[in-house]
Amino acid sequence: MLKIASIVGHNLEIPYDVEYRPAWQPGLVRKSRDVTLAIVRTEDGLTGYACNDGHHARAIERSVAPYLVGQPASATERHARTFRNAGGLWFLDQALWDIIGKAAGMPLYRLWGGYRTTVPAYASTSELGTPSNRAELAARYRDEGFRAMKIRFHNERIEDDLALLDAVKEAAPDLTIMVDANQATNLPSPNLTPSWDYRRALDTARELHARNVLWLEEPLARYDFENLVRLREHTDIYIAGGESNRQLHEFRWLVERGVYDIIQPDCSLSEGISQLRKVAAMAELFKRHFIPHHGLSGLGLAAVLHLVCSINEPLMWLEMMYEPPTRTLETYQQLGGILTTLAWIDKNGNVTVPEAPGLGVEVDESAIAHFAA
Ligand SMILES: [Mg+2]
Repeated sequence: MLKIASIVGHNLEIPYDVEYRPAWQPGLVRKSRDVTLAIVRTEDGLTGYACNDGHHARAIERSVAPYLVGQPASATERHARTFRNAGGLWFLDQALWDIIGKAAGMPLYRLWGGYRTTVPAYASTSELGTPSNRAELAARYRDEGFRAMKIRFHNERIEDDLALLDAVKEAAPDLTIMVDANQATNLPSPNLTPSWDYRRALDTARELHARNVLWLEEPLARYDFENLVRLREHTDIYIAGGESNRQLHEFRWLVERGVYDIIQPDCSLSEGISQLRKVAAMAELFKRHFIPHHGLSGLGLAAVLHLVCSINEPLMWLEMMYEPPTRTLETYQQLGGILTTLAWIDKNGNVTVPEAPGLGVEVDESAIAHFAA
């Protein structure tokens, strides 16, 4: 019956090897990342795992456990309202699906429709950087087998943003390039963040299209639908976004109103993986592209990988957060080594979905105490 026996969140602090400066929060320096690893156990001995940014152990104990313990782990539609009302703890849905897949003895992508087994991955950067270190990274990614990379635009002047792109194109002309402006959220930062208006977005989109960039991500504020629609109508480059949107009704707005060509929900930030399957269906019906955000950890990434391998999306790319030496696979995917499996590319730049039941991610629970916050 998959009756839930316990659900516990572990607040963790994972140190970065090198100071990390996210492009979207100018002036901010991070030395570690706060995450929560959630563990769900069933009475019949199955275990499911999920991960999210931030510390949520108390909210899980107070606002989730009383409603889930004793209930079937497979009742994902019933539990969705609990996750919503606990302040958006949608990531816990990953653990329920991990259990469902294990109980069925099947990897989730097969359970959900089994469309493909591999997907091309792009290396996704987080720092703004300089033209010379973006060029070095581009050459490194290409040598490692990546066929695509995403850079950040966050300079005051458009000329300085374009210089980053031109350096990357010169260093690795064959790479497919995506550009993320991170304008949809306005997170607090020590320095003011460059804020784009319609004209800046339009000028940038046209310059990127002329340089054969695949998509421009989050060029305007999250709810500036009028200008996002106008931008799509006046440019030919794909306009992407959605990681900052929450709950199904917002994705209905994005799809119905034609806000983005590419819809990018996140299975930890936007809604649970169950609900993202509905967004994928909505995108398919409206002929929008569905290319999810990265999921925040190796567990979220695995959920995304199973999801994208279960649907027919002709433009699919898997976002792999990877920018050595700051955002390494160990800190981003493996939580310092707690997760012992890793999603990685083959020589063609593709990631193969795991065949193990559930999410297919192994967890070393004995390593949790080392990172307890
Ligand atoms: Mg983004």
